[in-house]
Formats: sequence, structure tokens, C-alpha cells
Amino acid sequence: MDKGVRIAIIGGGPAGLSAGMYLEQKGYENYVIYEKTDHVGGKCHSPHMNGKRYEMGAIMGVPSYYAVHDVEVFAGVSHADGPKLHRTYRLPNGKVDTRFDKKLFNLPHLLKLKSQIKKFGEILETKYKGYDICGHRGVSEGRYEGYAVTPGREPVSGVNPNLKDLALPFKKFVELNKVPLVQEIWVQPFTSFGYGYFDEIPAAYVLKYLDFQTMMNFVNVNLWTWKEGTQSIYEALNRKLKHPAVLNSKISKIVRGDKVTITVNGKEEVFDKLIITAPLQVGTINNPVAQGLDSYLDVTDKERELFSKIDYERYDTMAFITKEEAYPDASFYVVDNMTPETLGHGMVFYMRWANEPDQPLVSYVLRKHKNESESVEAYKARPELDYGKTQRTVLEDLDKLGIAPVKEDGKDKIVYEMQSYYFPHIFSEDYADGWYEKVEGMQGDNNTYYAGEIMSFGDMDETVEYSRDLVERFFN
Ligand SMILES: Cc1cc2nc3c(=O)[nH]c(=O)nc-3n(C[C@H](O)[C@H](O)[C@H](O)COP(=O)(O)OP(=O)(O)OC[C@H]3O[C@@H](n4cnc5c(N)ncnc54)[C@H](O)[C@@H]3O)c2cc1C
Repeated sequence: MDKGVRIAIIGGGPAGLSAGMYLEQKGYENYVIYEKTDHVGGKCHSPHMNGKRYEMGAIMGVPSYYAVHDVEVFAGVSHADGPKLHRTYRLPNGKVDTRFDKKLFNLPHLLKLKSQIKKFGEILETKYKGYDICGHRGVSEGRYEGYAVTPGREPVSGVNPNLKDLALPFKKFVELNKVPLVQEIWVQPFTSFGYGYFDEIPAAYVLKYLDFQTMMNFVNVNLWTWKEGTQSIYEALNRKLKHPAVLNSKISKIVRGDKVTITVNGKEEVFDKLIITAPLQVGTINNPVAQGLDSYLDVTDKERELFSKIDYERYDTMAFITKEEAYPDASFYVVDNMTPETLGHGMVFYMRWANEPDQPLVSYVLRKHKNESESVEAYKARPELDYGKTQRTVLEDLDKLGIAPVKEDGKDKIVYEMQSYYFPHIFSEDYADGWYEKVEGMQGDNNTYYAGEIMSFGDMDETVEYSRDLVERFFN
């Protein structure tokens, strides 16, 4: 492709900014990044409170976040000075949950669990070879194609019919492979981090994020954090780009033909190529920050049909200050609240700095679950749990946990809250039906490319890695 093409990138989150970085590194310098809010980072959101930065969105990475590391190098950022993460467990009544206490753990169960984890690791490397590369190209056809999860990201491809099993919900997938107990370990960084439940989410997504090496990093608490928050990575990246994102860009219309004409803040701009990292979902989205793609793009019938299949997680964070004497010693999980039956209850309570009262504690909650027997249509037609009601449930949870927020004017003092359009994904039937092959087959049509969370997985590394993958494939 001619290196002078004018490229518009929609969205100034990790996917959009890193698309700019990778394009620039390939010599494509004629790009504009449009960000609709007044800040970059998207769901990497680290607001300032009491002179420090806290995390309302993304928190951590692992040593295999090679793409995030590309950004760190480019932007001059390091994860060396982030706060250390600790993890404890509590029951919903506030008592210590001893289920993972090595001394108190039921030994026969522990041994069985350990042996299933080991077996799972072996199965993934052999039977499901190719399961962990970025993106989903070819998986529903029993193929893999992409870049290895190594620092060098060598191109890899192959045929492996077993990969078709990845369309199954994770629960069915591990039952099929006779390792159901691994769910006890995988659930913690999956469901509590808002990625849904194992009876509804295809294994392909669970393992895209929690591939075996990443999961072991979680188990061993071998994690990266950033002192100034995850948002600071993308702020630094934005500062280093030749063309930092254009903030407060309100796009009202995009019309595609030989050229791409974008109406932004009332003015028309013409481009040769378009990269969309904003949500691809069409129709009304019940979220304060997301809008359907068809509200501004001239979507084709094919795009409408495919993108109407996308669903997302209703994942909310709420920060509050508790009394000094009630501060927990460390962040904690409430594993009993990570089930579909306890939907709407707080699953994690995150404290960023050890031994520091008077800092916000952040709670994490999910508000919708697709029942196993329910069709996608019936699920989509059913309302989610009400946001306000769920907030009150979480406040009751906090009371029971003994860490209720301090009051202001008689009311619980919530210092920050965020509702995310989170982890866009499709369900098993559409995955098995080749949704990804169809969307990948549309890359480049109408001068349009799709990137961002839906194309691989909703975490920092998969989104940045996918932008790299896209640039490698189409802008070489
Ligand atoms: C509570 C929470 C915890 C998380 N924890 C982790 C974690 O620990 N580790 C991890 O790796 N990931 C984590 N994530 C996920 C991670 O933040 C996201 O996967 C990542 O930010 C996705 O990047 P993105 O660029 O694809 O999308 P986003 O971050 O959503 O960015 C999209 C950007 O596009 C902009 N935009 C949208 N529509 C338009 C439009 N029409 N015009 C212009 N701009 C538009 C948005 O304003 C936004 O800035 C977490 C997220 C949340 C919410």
C-alpha cells in the first residue's frame, strides 16, 4: 500500500493509539486518531484522587504482555514501580474464606485439582495447539493463523480440527476434556474481572486471555502494575505519537465509497482508509459511553447482520472510602459472589496501596448472564439488572463485609463510579458458524478495517496485539 494514504482511526483507547504507533513504525505517518471524550485510554482509566491515581478500569498485566511492552518501550513507560498486588479471600459475611488456604485445604481435592491443572496445560499445548494466538482467524474451521505468543511474535499457521471445540462454552469445554475442576482457578481472574460466566462464554475467549502461561502468572501473583495507573501508559504513548489523538471529536457521519468521508464536529474530512476500534455493535446500547456503530456509519447489510450478533458485559466499578479501622489488609475476592446465582453482588474489592487507609476501595460487579437453556434472542430481549438497584445491593454487601462507605450528609459516600461497555463478544452458535472468518473476510472492504476488543479479546494486550496484527497484514 502507498505509504502516503490518509488513514482515520476511530477511538483513542489502547487499540486506536497502538494502531497509530504500529502504522508510524511501518512508515504510515498520514493518520488521524479521533477520540470522542476529553481524554485518551478508554477503559484504562486512572482518575486522580487524594494526590494519587486509582484504577477504575484496567489494573494489571502479566510478563507475556508483549504488545503492551512494545507500547512501554515506544512511550518510555515502565511497570517496575507499580504497587504490588496482594490477594486474600473473604466470605460474603466478611469472614476469611479458607478454601484456598494450603494448610486448611482438603488435601485429596487439592491433589485432584493440581493433577487436572497439569493435564489441562498438556492438553492445551498438544490437542489444542494454536489455541492462544491473537485473534480468531480460522478457529471455527479447525485452523490457526497469526503470530506466536513470544517476544518475537513469529508468524504461525496450521491445521488443527480440535480447535473447533473452542466454540463451546468454557464449562462444556473443560467437561469434554475431563478437567472440570480447573474452573475453580480460572474463574477468579475471569468472572471477577467482568468477563462473564463459564456456562455462557466460548472457551476461545477464556483461553485467549487466560492461556496457560498467563493463568500460571496469576496463580503465582507474577503481575505488572503501573504507579501512575494503566491510563498513564496510553497518555505517554499519545504524547509520543507524531499525531496525538484529536480529543472531543464528535463524529456524526461516515460515508464510504472510493474515499471515506467523515463528518466530525460538523466538518467533513476525507480519508483513504478507515480503522474502527470503537464498538462495532449496531442498534441501541444501554450504556452511557457506548453508541451503536450504525448511529454514525453507513453500515452495509452484511455488517449489520454480523455486528447485531455482538453482546457485551455490563460491568461496573464503584469506589468508596471506608472508616480507617475497617480497611482490609489487602484486596480480596468474594468467590461465592462469582456465580450466575449471585449476579449483581460485589466480586472483588480492590485496594491499590498497601497499609494506606483513606484511599478509595473499588468494587466490581456484573449485571447480566445468559442462562444455558436460553436462546441468544431471548437473552437479548431480557433486561439486565438495574444499575441503581445493583449499586444498592453492593452497598448492602459492603455492610455485611464490614467495610461500608463513610457517610456524607447521611448518605453513603461513593467517590467515583464507572459503567463500562465491556468485553464485546459473540456466543457459541455464532462462533461455530464462522462469525470471525466472515468478519476477517471483510477486512479492507469499503476501505474499512476492524480492530479493538471484539476482534480478539477485551484486555489491554489482546487489543494492542490485534492492532499490530492488523498493521502487519494490511499495511506492509
Ligand atoms: C473495570 C475494568 C477492569 C479491567 N482490567 C483489566 C486488566 O486488569 N488488564 C487488562 O489487560 N485489561 C483490563 N481491562 C480491559 C481493558 O481496559 C480493555 O480491554 C482495553 O481498554 C480495550 O481497548 P480498546 O481500545 O479496544 O477499547 P477502549 O478502551 O474501550 O477504548 C475505546 C475508545 O474509543 C472511544 N470511542 C468510542 N466510540 C467512539 C466514537 N464514535 N468516536 C470516537 N471515539 C470513540 C472511547 O471513548 C474510548 O476512548 C479492564 C477494563 C475494565 C473496565
